Amino acid sequence: QAKERDRTHVAVFDHQMQALASSRLETESQLGGALERDELRLVYQPIVDVHTERTIGFEALVRWQHPSRGLLAPAEFMSIAEETGMILAIGEWVLREALMQLQLWRMDVPGARDLFVAVNLSARQVQDPEFPAAVARTLAQTRAEPAALHLELTESMVMSRSDVAVQNVTALRELGVRVSLDDFGTGYSSLSYLHQIPAHTVKIDRSFVAAIGEDNASATSIIGAIVGLGRALELDVVGEGVETPQQVEELRRLGVRYAQGYLWSPPIAPAAAQEWIREKAVRDSPSA
Ligand code: C2E
Ligand code: MG
Ligand code: MG
Ligand code: MG
Repeated sequence: QAKERDRTHVAVFDHQMQALASSRLETESQLGGALERDELRLVYQPIVDVHTERTIGFEALVRWQHPSRGLLAPAEFMSIAEETGMILAIGEWVLREALMQLQLWRMDVPGARDLFVAVNLSARQVQDPEFPAAVARTLAQTRAEPAALHLELTESMVMSRSDVAVQNVTALRELGVRVSLDDFGTGYSSLSYLHQIPAHTVKIDRSFVAAIGEDNASATSIIGAIVGLGRALELDVVGEGVETPQQVEELRRLGVRYAQGYLWSPPIAPAAAQEWIREKAVRDSPSA
């Protein structure tokens, strides 16, 4: 009987594996045409100064408007994009789209002139020797200021001790682009990474911010230590995933200057972001 049950389990497992593999294959082939069919979207999350509540920039986050499955988050397709190499074309699209959007906002709203847009990179882009030249081209085509572009990378993208990644970051910095270390503190060797990659900004991983509400003394100490590093190395520090007033209060107390999270806004569509910018610009202008 046990054997019988085992066999059934194996059959069920097999079936699930097959279903998973075929849905993966299906997703893969659909993703292949997503760019031509214009199914990718960017949403934008405001990044604010926690003292003035002013919006200083937006992080661009990719979505896939799937023909039958609705709006998909990166977790549902970006690993396939990375494995197949489609990420290079997607990444190019994301960069161009985000910079064009930034330029439209800057033209539309006078108060938006100092905004930046932050774009997430993938490992393949960071390892691609052609990447800095592609960024330079896109900046020239969109006439965006290099300093208005923040490129976000994570430790695992450069951890392979690849010289290409370090050279690329150096080349990007020389263009005037700003470099952010995303999900900071979660990697295996955050300190040596910080030493290897000369960055402008570190983004404290959401897990540390989330732990604040749970009265977690070590999370608070780690955030304090990152702020100290930021001061010593002259880096801007951004807290990610802020959801409660208590969390932002604690971040302020610890000396974190910038933050983003659902407390202010989830990532929003371009039109809503434009509305957001208009409101903030009006609210912040001295004549209002
Ligand atoms: P990330 O760069 O660390 O982005 C922050 C993620 O946290 C986003 O998820 C955002 O929607 C979410 N988030 C923001 N505020 C809060 C909050 O208060 N609470 C919670 N629980 N979550 C919050 P999303 O958009 O699903 O993106 C996930 C990851 O996918 C990103 O993490 C980034 O690593 C990657 N990604 C997104 N867009 C792109 C892209 O265009 N290119 C590449 N290569 N990766 C991307
Ligand atoms: Mg990011
Ligand atoms: Mg992050
Ligand atoms: Mg991330």
